[in-house]
Amino acid sequence: MINPKHGYGANLNPCLDCKGFMVTRAKQWMEENGFDFIITGEVIGQRPMSQRKDTMPVIAKESGAGERLLRPLCAQLLPPTLPEQEGWVDREKLFDFNGRSRKPQIELAGRWGFEEWSQPAGGCCFLTNPQYSKKLADLWEARGERRYELDDIMLLKIGRHLRPRPHFKLIIAREEGENRFLQGYRKQFTHLQTVSHGGPLVLVDGSLEGDDEELAAQLTARFSQGREAESVRVSVTRTDGTSREFDVKPFAPSEVRQEWYVA
Ligand code: SF4
Repeated sequence: MINPKHGYGANLNPCLDCKGFMVTRAKQWMEENGFDFIITGEVIGQRPMSQRKDTMPVIAKESGAGERLLRPLCAQLLPPTLPEQEGWVDREKLFDFNGRSRKPQIELAGRWGFEEWSQPAGGCCFLTNPQYSKKLADLWEARGERRYELDDIMLLKIGRHLRPRPHFKLIIAREEGENRFLQGYRKQFTHLQTVSHGGPLVLVDGSLEGDDEELAAQLTARFSQGREAESVRVSVTRTDGTSREFDVKPFAPSEVRQEWYVA
């Protein structure tokens, strides 16, 4: 993901490298468990990057699966693989689906009695999501390097992300479920919470300097139930366990600059 050999798709999705990686792991599993070949549900032309006639051999080659990688849905449009050559599967019974339409697969699933399947259209992977990719690009830019931890990846999925200063970002829970999720990260991050009113838990990714605590508190108050109040009491707890409480005037909507929203 950091430096994909084959580049990115429309967003930060390194699909070709990712597929190569997945098939590499599948091949390892195949060998360790005594199986003979791998099937994947790819269809030529279904996706602009990883599912093209010219990229399919790349995945087979780079994963090491080679002729042991069979794509039953479009096999008739590709050279025969080992399972077909050896007669382990009947090539005549395989398919020649191609293009972006998913109708043929859905009809086939229906014929086999499948009534439910994962929703297609990129919903399976956050990296195809423009908002998520923007947040990841922002994280990398703020850190000055393409580095991330698993927790970063999780946190990019949660909350409203605002970057009012280059050196810190606020992650603001949008509802109770997100609030509970962010609670699990409280000890790792400086965090803010409204005391006088109900409101979200807000994590600070970065460091608060000078009057940043005030600014972060005004934003926290803005997204709390005290947003219309004259004054809201907010607590700031730092990672060393020290904390302070103070009153702030919540930001008015017009004071929350559009460019602060990361995505
Ligand atoms: S959509 Fe995501 S999971 Fe799927 S191949 Fe692309 S990068 Fe990998």
